[in-house]
Amino acid sequence: MQEKNNNDLVSSFAPDFASKSVQEKLSRLGINCESDLLLHLPLRYEDETHIYPINDVVDGKTVQVEGVITHTEVMYRPRRQLVCQVTDGSGTLHIRFLNFYGSQIKTLAVNKRLRILGVARNGFFGAEMVHPTYRIVQEGEPLAQALTPVYPTTAGLSQKVIRKLIGQVLSQYKHTEFFSETLPDVIRTQQQLASFKDSVTLLHQPPPDVSSNSLQARSHSAWQRIKFDELLSQQLSMRLHYQQRRSHSASSLPLKNKLTQAFLSSLAFELTQAQKKTFAEVSHDISLPHPMQRLLQGDVGCGKTVVAALAALQVIENGYQAAIMAPTEILAEQHFDKLSHWLEPLGVNVAWLSGSQKRKAKTATLVEIASGHTMLAIGTHALFQDQVEFKQLGLAIIDEQHRFGVHQRLELCLKSNKSGAVPHQLMMSATPIPRTLSMSYYADLDVSVIDELPPGRTLVVTKLIADNRRNEIVERIHVACRAGKQAYWVCPLIEESETLQLKTANETYDTLSELLPELNIGLIHGRLSAQEKSSIMESFKLGETQLLVATTVIEVGVDVPNASLMVIEHAERMGLSQLHQLRGRVGRGSDASVCILMYQMPLSDIARKRLKVIFKYSDGFEISKQDLNLRGPGEFLGARQSGVPLLRFADIEQDIELLEAAKGVAEDILTQYPQLAQQHIQRWLGKKKAYLRV
Ligand code: ADP
Ligand code: MG
Repeated sequence: MQEKNNNDLVSSFAPDFASKSVQEKLSRLGINCESDLLLHLPLRYEDETHIYPINDVVDGKTVQVEGVITHTEVMYRPRRQLVCQVTDGSGTLHIRFLNFYGSQIKTLAVNKRLRILGVARNGFFGAEMVHPTYRIVQEGEPLAQALTPVYPTTAGLSQKVIRKLIGQVLSQYKHTEFFSETLPDVIRTQQQLASFKDSVTLLHQPPPDVSSNSLQARSHSAWQRIKFDELLSQQLSMRLHYQQRRSHSASSLPLKNKLTQAFLSSLAFELTQAQKKTFAEVSHDISLPHPMQRLLQGDVGCGKTVVAALAALQVIENGYQAAIMAPTEILAEQHFDKLSHWLEPLGVNVAWLSGSQKRKAKTATLVEIASGHTMLAIGTHALFQDQVEFKQLGLAIIDEQHRFGVHQRLELCLKSNKSGAVPHQLMMSATPIPRTLSMSYYADLDVSVIDELPPGRTLVVTKLIADNRRNEIVERIHVACRAGKQAYWVCPLIEESETLQLKTANETYDTLSELLPELNIGLIHGRLSAQEKSSIMESFKLGETQLLVATTVIEVGVDVPNASLMVIEHAERMGLSQLHQLRGRVGRGSDASVCILMYQMPLSDIARKRLKVIFKYSDGFEISKQDLNLRGPGEFLGARQSGVPLLRFADIEQDIELLEAAKGVAEDILTQYPQLAQQHIQRWLGKKKAYLRV
């Protein structure tokens, strides 16, 4: 019988497979059945096939040596440690143990012969190793024939036990289904991939003649196969998911060119080519009878909102409703202002809904949404809570989609119409997503990219200034504001404490008010009511407020073209996309803009790297790419990560060719070999499939 453990994962080991306590430890490593163990591949390998003469060991290299102990002593300086001197005739090696048991002193007695594996260093006394692994041996004891795998492990589970269990599974299942090929022959041949069984076996038990470098660097054909399979499993599951969602029906809402055309003629500007192209893609999707699942991405300020407005109008001119969900009240309100300004003249009723709204206003709005009087509803995630009922929602637009978790997106998806049709979905991302990432972790969406900024944008000049030059910066603001310009002063981010953050913002406001008495200064932060926030933003937009002191609440979406100077305090604490977003608040008008990044020494290594990137690059795609390099996909993906299993072996940047190949064949495998596709997904994702999100 199968049992449930507290992780809610069904453990499916054979009952006599290892002890309960070992099974528990394995499950901590994500290993819940024998086949998981097969895919628990070595982290690296140790070379115990050679013995190096002590005289030949190279600093920093892991090697195996063998020698006889000539001296053992517990030393007390610089701290307590056990030190043994070993010689093999070619030279002398010291081995040191900072933590050791009393029994070790006895084991490591003079004249004992040791085989030692460790990283050699040139220490004070010549060659030495700290905490090497060692074993007492007899002279002439045979050497390992092949490289020794080293596995990821957890407390209390030794390499020895893992190796033994894996060896057991390998031989027990050698001739079973377990190892069956999940790639169709044609594809395997065409992609020149090694067999699954051979690859797995080789990686666990490398034969003596295999190139150690290619195993360590994961370039060996066996690794290639494993990485391909892993990437393919990701593609298959995401495409499957995509197909499942697509199999729902949605209302087909073709472009009628009434409202959309009227809107375009009313705009003071021409769409960029990129906006035209992406709207055409969106428009086509909406005209189809299954739900659109499209991600619209582009750099800060590229003009995604206009495209969203056009999409909404296409839906509205078909008699359906549209909704825009934004992650913060400030952003939702900005959208509301902008879109009602654009669309009300065309006779489109726009409504605003937020969590902090007064009950009465909210109830009234809910009635209007339910009756269909509201054609476009804008709000925070309050929009997709239970009480909100749309008469006929045709399109849901999610701005800054990466800020929303899986569940919020799910709720949104479930807002189906009475007819059972689900709304089209347009997701927008303010943080450009590097190509490799959108090919892998976003493979369940269609992607449109706005790759051009509206004309006339001025490049923002970025300056890095240490915070001991604060006075100069304050003076600079003084001069700029007196010349009729406007500025932002972004307060430091204090992640640990919102109270402290608020305190700092208030203090900054007080200090700046004192230093710049002639200026009208505003303060905005997350704790203010929606109404307070909006009146502060309004006054800044109108130019009454010259300097706006703000927390990072202004990070997304805020659009005040006359603001041309931004100061960011403690820029070293902020992430790259946050800095890029903040900087994107200036450079929106015709004035040359400046963004001053103030930092405090000393800088950590990562902070230094980030500041270098933001200083050097202004293109959001490039910054994202650098960010992905610095942080890795797990961190980069943030909220989305909770729903997507991360890759264990493949690296989307380094293995881009494999990623492209896997993407290239996924659709074919799904349609022509659905059974194999299922087996493949099962093998690689198993229970994790359940976590795949909407
Ligand atoms: P984002 O893509 O960052 O959401 P927005 O949609 O807020 O960017 O657009 C930034 C600014 O550019 C807005 O003031 C918008 O009205 C303006 N804008 C958008 N498209 C164009 C265009 N084609 N020409 C000129 N200005 C544009
Ligand atoms: Mg935006």
